[in-house]
Parts: sequence; C-alpha cells; structure tokens
Amino acid sequence: MSGDCARPGIYEYPFGVSVRQVLADCGAEFTQAVQASGASGTCIDETEFDRRIAFEDLATAGALMVFDESRDMFEVARSFVQFFAHESCGFCTPCRVGTTLLRKLMDKLAAGLGSPDDLAQIVDLNHLLQAASHCGLGHTACNPVLDTMKRFRPAYERRLVTLEFAPAFDLDGALARARAMTGRDDPGAHFGVPA
Ligand code: SF4
Repeated sequence: MSGDCARPGIYEYPFGVSVRQVLADCGAEFTQAVQASGASGTCIDETEFDRRIAFEDLATAGALMVFDESRDMFEVARSFVQFFAHESCGFCTPCRVGTTLLRKLMDKLAAGLGSPDDLAQIVDLNHLLQAASHCGLGHTACNPVLDTMKRFRPAYERRLVTLEFAPAFDLDGALARARAMTGRDDPGAHFGVPA
C-alpha cells in the first residue's frame, strides 16, 4: 500500500478482500482513485471500491497506490506516461516512437492546447501499441491514460481549448524558413491564409 494513506506499508490478506476494506485498514481518507498493479495496471474510482482483490476480479500484483481528492488524475496519468517513455528500451519502433508520441500528446493537453482529436489519437495509439509492440511495456503504456480518461473525464476535458483540431506548435512559423529559401511571402505560402 502506498500513496495517500496514513499507514502505507506491506499488508497480507486472503484473496477476496475488498479494496474498501484495505483502504480502511491503511487509513486512507477522501480517496478518489486506486491504481492497482502498478503503472500499467488498472485505475478504479470510488464506485468500484467494493471490488475484490482476486484474479477473477481485480488483479493487483500485490500493489495498490492510493490517490485522494487533492490529486489531479490527469497529472497522475501524465506522470505514468513519462515513466513509460523513459523506460521504453527502444528495441521496437511502435513502442519507442509510440510512447514518446503519447508523452507529447499529454504534454500538449497539459499546456492547454488540446482538442478532442488528441483524445482520439490516444485511442488510436493504444491500438497500435497493443498490436505491434514486442513486450508488455508497449502493450500497456496507454492503460493509465485510457483508465483515467474513462473515469475522470472532466480532468481531460477542461484542458481542451477547442472542439476543432489544434496544432501542438506554430505551423505558420515552422514554414518561415521554407518561405525565406523560396523567396515567397504570398498568402499561398502561409498556413491557414486563403490563397
Ligand atoms: S515494447 Fe518492449 S521491447 Fe519494444 S521498445 Fe518497448 S520495452 Fe522495448
């Protein structure tokens, strides 16, 4: 048991104990989420605290992280994503590139530049990582984002500035060098300006 609880530490239970019982035993209060089985595991919210620790219900691999109401679950997921991008060994391209793309998408949302298209891209990225990664790290890298996006959706939606696509960088500015090289500065050489 770790995280926001008065008595973190090592506990021993028979299979079938509820998450709610474990939270009470370790002195957790105002808990909004529990991350089971580490960064790549399952994130549950308070509606699921009666779930039982067992392979048939909630597998924990012996690890539960507690997050109280003071935590921003978007930032929790972003922190896990940074971990996966750092830990990717680089052996296979889907994971090496995919975890970095995922980190950049979360950074874009954190910067307040997100759009619904970014959330859809995360879902697409998950399909790619699950289908094409070589090992479990890549297969599960999107789990914390998908779980928190489902259960703590407002934490994501308040970061969306627009319902349209929003680029993560200044596209027109990025064309400046090409304009200088070609000697062009007409409307057709600018992004988003009718030619
Ligand atoms: S999926 Fe596994 S093998 Fe492939 S880059 Fe990620 S950590 Fe390495």
